[in-house]
Amino acid sequence: MNKRLLIANRSEIAIRIIRSAHKLGLTAIVLQSEKEPDALYLNYADEVILANDGSSDKPIFLDAEKIVQLALENQIDMIHPGYGFLSENPDFAQLCEDNGLNFIGPSPKLIREMGIKTIAKKMAIDAGLPLVPGSDGAVKDAKVALEFAKKIGYPVLLKASAGGGGRGMRIVEKPETMERNFKSAFDEATAAFGNGDLFIEKYLENPKHLEFQILGDKYGHVIQLGERECSLQRKHQKLLEEAPSASISPRIRKKMGKMAVKFAESIGYFSAGTIEYILDEDGTFYFMEMNTRIQVEHPVTEMVSGVDLVDWQIKIALGEKLTVKQSEVKTTGWAIECRVNTEDPQNRFSPQTGFIEKIRFPQNPNVRIETGVQNGSVVTPYFDSMIAKIIVHGNNRQDAINKTLEALQDFGLMGMKTTVPFCRAVLQHPEFVSARYTTRWVTQYFKPEMLENPDDELIGALAATIIYATEYLQIASDLPASRNESLNVWVLNKRINK
Ligand code: ADP
Ligand code: ADP
Ligand code: MG
Repeated sequence: MNKRLLIANRSEIAIRIIRSAHKLGLTAIVLQSEKEPDALYLNYADEVILANDGSSDKPIFLDAEKIVQLALENQIDMIHPGYGFLSENPDFAQLCEDNGLNFIGPSPKLIREMGIKTIAKKMAIDAGLPLVPGSDGAVKDAKVALEFAKKIGYPVLLKASAGGGGRGMRIVEKPETMERNFKSAFDEATAAFGNGDLFIEKYLENPKHLEFQILGDKYGHVIQLGERECSLQRKHQKLLEEAPSASISPRIRKKMGKMAVKFAESIGYFSAGTIEYILDEDGTFYFMEMNTRIQVEHPVTEMVSGVDLVDWQIKIALGEKLTVKQSEVKTTGWAIECRVNTEDPQNRFSPQTGFIEKIRFPQNPNVRIETGVQNGSVVTPYFDSMIAKIIVHGNNRQDAINKTLEALQDFGLMGMKTTVPFCRAVLQHPEFVSARYTTRWVTQYFKPEMLENPDDELIGALAATIIYATEYLQIASDLPASRNESLNVWVLNKRINK
């Protein structure tokens, strides 16, 4: 094929895409940000393009024009945007198209339509999908919001039309707090998305988040690869996911899957995509939104279905026909993904930065590791705190839980705190084990006391923070070779993970 694929992303997802590119015989090219000059993904690429983004306030991965310019200078054929960053930015997709670059994803028009939740919801109604009661479109101001809230009943949720990543959302419990919440949601949405439009939905108090993975080609063939349950969230952001979901019957699964396909077909969708649903306590489900990109948690679907989603994204972009038939899609066993974020679960998940003194991943059978870091990597404040994902397959749900717990025992990180002890607490909690957990699990049940020996990690974290502060911050692009080996904290770390 000899096509040149540029990855407009970083970390584990860049490595994941490189793997598919190589499998398909493409040359994989990545961008090197000066904000992270020594990142692991650079080692996996065939070519690295230097981006002079050191003095810029935004990293290269957010600079659409610069990426396209570099792509043209480097004879790039296709661009994979990964997730986050510009992956759901229709202007970027359009700019690629206008410059003859094959953007791996659906059409810019669809990205735009699905990116505005109120438009996506209208299109979902047309396809016959059920929607959470709420306003038809954006509400003008707090006064109009109050009228709607009166109609649908409190609590209500204010949501940013252009929202993503759980931002621009506010729960309103009573009329008195509408104005304040409206203002703060509006301000957050304006700052984050450059669009302050808000709409209103009935707030479901104990829901589950379920989503269906779909794949469609450019010839109208769409399939779904089953669901993922992503109810384990904090501040509307996913922390641990599983596939399939124990929360629905085969009949409801079939119904939700059929609707997802019908919706994708009705809008002429191609590439990989996700239809997100919210499931209420009484078993009713509603369409929530569609994500027009590869998702962080895609590996759980790959593990149970055996279908490589990134391979298909690339092949579909190249104009190949999707040869997997719906009748051939079978899922086997159960998969769980734990997001490894450098956040301190003991201290309200505050983000951690610094050196990764040492890191150790499990090597158990049935475990898949997607990581963006290694020994000596630096976690900077410039990017997201997710450094790795640990994905585990089991024969059934309980087997997957047991195997994930086993795998997490072998994870070790010296240098900073992570969400791994949090994931261990989740996996052992009766609400999770019984699959009764909802999106409120963290607020309802999580207590730092659930973490096993969290204090021991501190010594390693402190040592690394000092090294980071004194060495890295001064010479960001010239990493010191020496590490403080005198503190044998690795031994300590080993102990806490048992
Ligand atoms: P989902 O988890 O369903 O894929 P999110 O909205 O959580 O959806 O997706 C993207 C998240 O990943 C965002 O929080 C974004 O900040 C983060 N992100 C984007 N790009 C990267 C990256 N290369 N490495 C790590 N995290 C990233
Ligand atoms: P984003 O684009 O930020 O991912 P979503 O619409 O997908 O926004 O919502 C993110 C999360 O917020 C959901 O996974 C769910 O936990 C919660 N949420 C969204 N809508 C509702 C609702 N109407 N009631 C209760 N929770 C909701
Ligand atoms: Mg969402």
